[in-house]
Amino acid sequence: MKFEDFALDTSIIQSLEAMGFEKPTPIQEQAIPILLDHRDIIGCAQTGTGKTAAYLLPVIQHIAQESPQHINTLIIAPTRELALQIDQQLEGFAYFTPVSSIAIYGGRDGASFEREKKALLKGADIIIATPGKFIQHLNLGYVDLSHLKHFILDEADRMLDMGFFEDIMRIASKLPKQRQTLLFSATMPPKIRTMAKKILIDPAQINIAISKPAEGVFQAAFNTFDNQKVPLIEHLLTAKQVSSVLIFCSTKRSVKQIQQALEDLKFSVSSIHSDLDQSEREKVLLGFRNRQINVLVATDIVSRGIDIEDIGLIINYDVPRDAEDYVHRIGRTARAESTGTAITLINPDDQYKFRKIEKLIGRSISKGQLPEQLGPGPRSKSNPQRPQKDNFHRSKKGPKKRS
Ligand code: ADP
Ligand code: MG
Repeated sequence: MKFEDFALDTSIIQSLEAMGFEKPTPIQEQAIPILLDHRDIIGCAQTGTGKTAAYLLPVIQHIAQESPQHINTLIIAPTRELALQIDQQLEGFAYFTPVSSIAIYGGRDGASFEREKKALLKGADIIIATPGKFIQHLNLGYVDLSHLKHFILDEADRMLDMGFFEDIMRIASKLPKQRQTLLFSATMPPKIRTMAKKILIDPAQINIAISKPAEGVFQAAFNTFDNQKVPLIEHLLTAKQVSSVLIFCSTKRSVKQIQQALEDLKFSVSSIHSDLDQSEREKVLLGFRNRQINVLVATDIVSRGIDIEDIGLIINYDVPRDAEDYVHRIGRTARAESTGTAITLINPDDQYKFRKIEKLIGRSISKGQLPEQLGPGPRSKSNPQRPQKDNFHRSKKGPKKRS
């Protein structure tokens, strides 16, 4: 299948060529015809499957045909990074069309708030916003949504995790009933289904959500004690000589500690977490993309959606709380059929969580030997015997015979 097979404007086809998109990804193949047909949709697919183009291309098509004078499309995304990234992709796709857009997100100065307000008053075709910031504008009363045609929720599961349910429902309540609503999510917990029931009408469902990491990722893990983790990272960074390494931690505190420790070891390292304001985060990401910084330590805020190409090595300093997050974290490497390595450090407390991950992805991940100078690591706690026992009891009891 080719992009030309959809009834897309030549200006859009042209921009796809310029961006090097040769053929649609599976979710694009399925979603684009349905969206061009103005139907609501629930799209469930993991990170890196091309959801952004799947929803942007039909929207750009509709706008290019109708040349609306009012806000036509509202895209809500969980983080500033993602809002910005969607806007950047949009600029590419809409390059040869007159479609206008603005990204609206928090953490900036008064001048940008005024600029956002102006764009909202003028009626930019596409608004891409974080929920909180959009509500601030909404509360000031000048946002006219009465002509809105498309409402898009990107990374809905993430937004609910971040506590945006009420905000999203508030925003939805201000929109015309006659509209197309799209919901994209990497996972489909019951909360998402509840929300979908409230704001979508007879949606088509697309599921590409087998939680499997990209094919090209080589995955490995080490059982370590906490005090062996930094020396192990030092060893890995020195041994692997990769120019681009992303280290994930669950907490802001450990992000800062590891950054400090690696700085002391003279690595070129920076970090990104929620304490940084927008311009600081952008600066860090830019430095990392340009290879001015080789090692980036981050909380999960960058693990979803943010596209940094060619990360050669991902290190999970700890085991992510959700098994799905593991897939998101390691999805940062080996994008678009390249190869990469993902290494997870497992302390004794995390072994249980890691087994859950192995279950989710359907295979066990090989455990490496710690380098000798680090001393012995913890033993792998074998799987608890209980399940076997239970089976034994059950089969012995069997169904009671009613005699
Ligand atoms: P998702 O939102 O599902 O995580 P994105 O839309 O951010 O994924 O896409 C991931 C990466 O793949 C981006 O760099 C994007 O430019 C690229 N991409 C998406 N669709 C295609 C395609 N059809 N051909 C080539 N690259 C694509
Ligand atoms: Mg996305």
